[in-house]
Amino acid sequence: MATAADGRLALPPLLRGQKALVTGANSGIGKATAIALGRAGADVVVNYVSGREAADEVVEEIRSFGVQAFAHEADVSDEGQVVAMFARTVEEFGTVDVLVANAGLQRDAASTEMTLDQWNKVIGVNLTGQFLCAREAAKEFVRRGVVPEVSRAAGKIVCMSSVHQIIPWSGHVNYAASKGGILMMMQTLAQEFAPKGIRVNAVAPGAIRTPINRSAWETPEAETALLELIPYRRVGDPEDIAHAVTLLASDLMDYVVGTTIYVDGGMTLFPGFATGG
Ligand code: NAD
Repeated sequence: MATAADGRLALPPLLRGQKALVTGANSGIGKATAIALGRAGADVVVNYVSGREAADEVVEEIRSFGVQAFAHEADVSDEGQVVAMFARTVEEFGTVDVLVANAGLQRDAASTEMTLDQWNKVIGVNLTGQFLCAREAAKEFVRRGVVPEVSRAAGKIVCMSSVHQIIPWSGHVNYAASKGGILMMMQTLAQEFAPKGIRVNAVAPGAIRTPINRSAWETPEAETALLELIPYRRVGDPEDIAHAVTLLASDLMDYVVGTTIYVDGGMTLFPGFATGG
């Protein structure tokens, strides 16, 4: 089957001259997004928390498009490290135009078994981490303002959410709560920042083939069960998300403010009701 990654879907240079920072960019969706933004003409900061080699490979691939890129190690749940990452970005690139707050993880357990550490870790990275990065990006967007020859907006923030911002998920209460939090955080930041020319939106992936959810697709039995939840009957590729983020960050989507784009093969269409109810 053709995939979004097979090269037929070349991206136009929608982000030429823009500076982007992608968190968690050495794996899965973040990696595909950093590469897509580079392909679309942006200079890219490849944030990672561990796995320097993988981050360097992403940097090399982005540089092959003739744009700039560097890897920066930072834990997005650590305020000091986030502040330092944005300071370095401004120092090296002059400014930042696009933040993709993507880094995320799961620490699954039945709610009666879930430790406070598991709860705090997921909320810390998935929700607090996105807030800290959005705060630092917005400060720079406000400081610089709109540069019309670069973009109609003063800056763009894309929050990586999940269908679990609206679909409850037993055994994953920390994760679902973090993504539900992102929905309201994103809308509130969008409301607050829109008058300053900053667009804040979210992309909510369904089931995408990445390391975070390997157990859901790595055996044929698991994949068959997963496909029951996806009306479009295919597991998504990281590039499906990367392309949505790239469009959302571009001026083609300049009037899109405070919205979540679900990229989920129809997972949020209550597929159980296709035959039941
Ligand atoms: P992944 O595990 O491949 O990537 C997650 C990335 O986040 C990795 O690069 C990891 O190192 C990084 N990360 C983790 N903790 C970090 C920290 N403290 N600081 C900086 N980086 C950190 O998984 P993925 O599927 O690519 O997930 C990316 C995002 O997409 C997450 O926010 C996830 O919740 C979301 N998402 C994924 C799916 C899916 O089906 N794969 C579905 C919905 C939402």
